[in-house]
Amino acid sequence: MDAIEKLKQGFSNFKNGYHKDHQAVYQDLIESGQKPKVAVIACSDSRVDPAIVLQMEPGDVFMIRNIANLVPPYEDNGSYHGTSAALEYAVQHLHVEHIIVLGHAHCGGIKTLFDGNKERVTGHFFVPPWMSMVEPAYLRVIATMPDASDREKHQACEQGAVLVSLENLMTFACIRKKVTEGSLRLHGWFIDIKTGELSCYHADSHTFEALG
Ligand SMILES: [Zn+2]
Repeated sequence: MDAIEKLKQGFSNFKNGYHKDHQAVYQDLIESGQKPKVAVIACSDSRVDPAIVLQMEPGDVFMIRNIANLVPPYEDNGSYHGTSAALEYAVQHLHVEHIIVLGHAHCGGIKTLFDGNKERVTGHFFVPPWMSMVEPAYLRVIATMPDASDREKHQACEQGAVLVSLENLMTFACIRKKVTEGSLRLHGWFIDIKTGELSCYHADSHTFEALG
């Protein structure tokens, strides 16, 4: 089946199945508005759709997706900050209680760091500067893991990207204030779709530990 036809068929199935079965849920979400308690920042990667991986229901999660699940640092320059705007809406308007940065193994965005300038000359204008946010983590991996396999280096960088995002979240005054007050919690999660494992970052041990 053609890729677009497949999506149209998918919507038809949704309309006649899931939507019909969840009419009361949708009606309530329309009348009361959305009140998700969680915002998730995930990668745009087609293989790690959080709605599937985390088995969400409508209204559960305010979703933000971009290349490599990155949160840029707070910047006050009036540009088009899509991720920052979505975060601000989640925190200041929806009053989410949790923000999860959901990293993943085999991330194409992280791979571009290891591919170096090759990507830059093949028509990538926006990706390299976006991914430069993770460059300190990339350089740390290169310096400290010279004998590791490519997969180990990539994964260390993929998890480093989650930590960069967690650090950058705290550069937003509205987020820093709520975290300090205790009304907002930040989480770093990492999923490996090959093994099907989810691990969570523990700040006290500075490690990602598999969910039991
Ligand atoms: Zn990715």
